Amino acid sequence: MKRNCKLCNQKGNLENSHIIPSFIYKWLKESSGTGYLRFGQTPNKRVQDGLKEYWLCPTCEDLFQKWETEFAKHIFHPIVKNNKNQFNYGPWLLKFSVSLSWRVLLFIKEKTNLSNFPQKLKNEANLALKTWKKFLLDKEPNPKKYQQHMLPLNAIRSHSFDNLPSNMNRYLLRSVNIDVANNTKEAFVYIKLPRILLTGFIHIEKPRQWKNTIVHVKKGTLGADRYVLPKYMADYLKKQADKSKSLNKKISEKQRSKINETYKKNIDKFATSDTFAALQHDVELFGESKVFDLTKSS
Ligand SMILES: [Zn+2]
Repeated sequence: MKRNCKLCNQKGNLENSHIIPSFIYKWLKESSGTGYLRFGQTPNKRVQDGLKEYWLCPTCEDLFQKWETEFAKHIFHPIVKNNKNQFNYGPWLLKFSVSLSWRVLLFIKEKTNLSNFPQKLKNEANLALKTWKKFLLDKEPNPKKYQQHMLPLNAIRSHSFDNLPSNMNRYLLRSVNIDVANNTKEAFVYIKLPRILLTGFIHIEKPRQWKNTIVHVKKGTLGADRYVLPKYMADYLKKQADKSKSLNKKISEKQRSKINETYKKNIDKFATSDTFAALQHDVELFGESKVFDLTKSS
């Protein structure tokens, strides 16, 4: 069936495209110690792959893939291997970031109609989608005020926060989590990848509170020595980690024994996996009793 491509609007056979690029799921699977993935929203189902929609024509799909390949090669794989802290990038990083923010915002808009957004922010969200689309198609030189901010995430080894959730390192290092966050005045697209946080501004009143995180148009270096994020962003990250902790608690007894079986069968693989390393970081930061109390079950 021929339909209009969501990006270029040309009629064609649309491809089943990933919202979050497939190389990320591939890495999660390979580094999991079990070879399976489980999604936050439906923790009782093993899923082999991420969310997909028939959205893009082959030309636009190729365009996205070109930027994804650069991102995977120059940023994602070096980051997850822990062998670099700073990454030089070219124009592909902003294109990649905008393509992700566009996909996630469109996906959530189609699912929820952004019903909790005040009208003014709904208008901003539509303008962001339009501007991002034009930028992706080279009809706009930059994304204007709908900026992209990215930062690499490391394991936390010490902290001074109150009530940091005891899965915080596992959340930062391994989770994939997408959302659109808003209050009455501000909104942003939230994309949490393993070891990477990306936000796409829909409307932010004081963008200068975000220091050293903006993705530049032509080139730059990701991984500044010092970042500043507004407090609401740190609070939001904490809240999302908490949410993922409670979703994990919902895993049914039957599923839990299935997980334990898989781990037992793969015990050697698990001990050297990235999943295990992330768990270790939480144990070191919060102590065994706190971590295993809530993961008693996982
Ligand atoms: Zn297209």
